[in-house]
Amino acid sequence: MKRFEMAFPESVSEACQILADNPGSRPIAGGTALSIVMKEGIYAPERLVNIRGLKSELDYVTLDDDVVRIGALTPMVDIERAEPIVEHLPTISQCLGNIAGVRVRNTATIGGHLAHADLHLDLPPVLAGLDAEVCLSTGSDERRLPVDEFIRGYYDTALEPAELITEITIPVPEENTRGVYLKHRYFSEVDWPCVGVAAFAVEADGAFSDVRVLLNSVGKSSIMAVEGIDDVIDSSLSDEAIEAVAELAREQSSPSSDIRGSAAYKERMAGEFTGRALRAIRDEEAN
Ligand SMILES: Cc1cc2nc3c(=O)[nH]c(=O)nc-3n(C[C@H](O)[C@H](O)[C@H](O)COP(=O)(O)OP(=O)(O)OC[C@H]3O[C@@H](n4cnc5c(N)ncnc54)[C@H](O)[C@@H]3O)c2cc1C
Repeated sequence: MKRFEMAFPESVSEACQILADNPGSRPIAGGTALSIVMKEGIYAPERLVNIRGLKSELDYVTLDDDVVRIGALTPMVDIERAEPIVEHLPTISQCLGNIAGVRVRNTATIGGHLAHADLHLDLPPVLAGLDAEVCLSTGSDERRLPVDEFIRGYYDTALEPAELITEITIPVPEENTRGVYLKHRYFSEVDWPCVGVAAFAVEADGAFSDVRVLLNSVGKSSIMAVEGIDDVIDSSLSDEAIEAVAELAREQSSPSSDIRGSAAYKERMAGEFTGRALRAIRDEEAN
């Protein structure tokens, strides 16, 4: 690995100023992803800006006015177990519990997860299905983007060089919202997804509305929202309607072949796990 310097800012403003003054520098949070891509030579920054000193500012999970707020430096394991998440956003808890092993989840932060923007990240489709927003700060200015606008492609985000993710906000979903995240792993229980499917729907007196299905690993980014669901779904989530949505997921997938399966296999799994996710929602096996 190429030699690099490390800066230790004590505030968001100071961190952003160092990033602005040193083009090509990068923030490092948990370091679980960045250390790997640096060892592989994909990134070779001359300076890392270690933002772990900002934990007093950016490590929290709160519930304010029906919005859950998560600081960017909050470790995954703390989010998974936080009361507002378990109570109001259990699909996030379920998804996080399926990411890597607990040693990684103890260190990896939600800000690092989203900024990494790997195609196979588990959480982005869940956050997008829940209308989450990402707050980006330059220290003096802030902007907020829906998570599916923040993540633009494979390793590609809307982050400007001198910006940090500071917060993720998620509105508490409508009552009777059901959600599920299903992760199909090809190798071990701690593997990345071959295909992951997040599905949500609102149930009232046995009728379902606002059905959403989002997949990772098979689209152009870690969020592939299945389009055209309203044209084929029915309010009872019948087997026929579910199969039609599964067919849309298959058709709209454009995966690459890799160690976790051929493109054709992943397309089939995109349909299969979409069907399973929607049946779990209908049959009350979801959160
Ligand atoms: C063994 C292993 C298994 C894994 N398995 C899975 C899996 O099954 N599913 C899955 O989804 N993920 C998996 N991951 C990836 C894991 O989710 C990421 O490594 C982790 O979320 C990154 O968080 P971090 O805090 O360590 O980020 P870092 O490694 O510190 O940073 C990652 C990127 O984000 C940038 N960054 C960090 N924080 C910020 C910020 N606040 N603002 C702006 N940019 C920032 C960095 O510059 C870097 O580009 C695995 C990782 C490992 C090591």
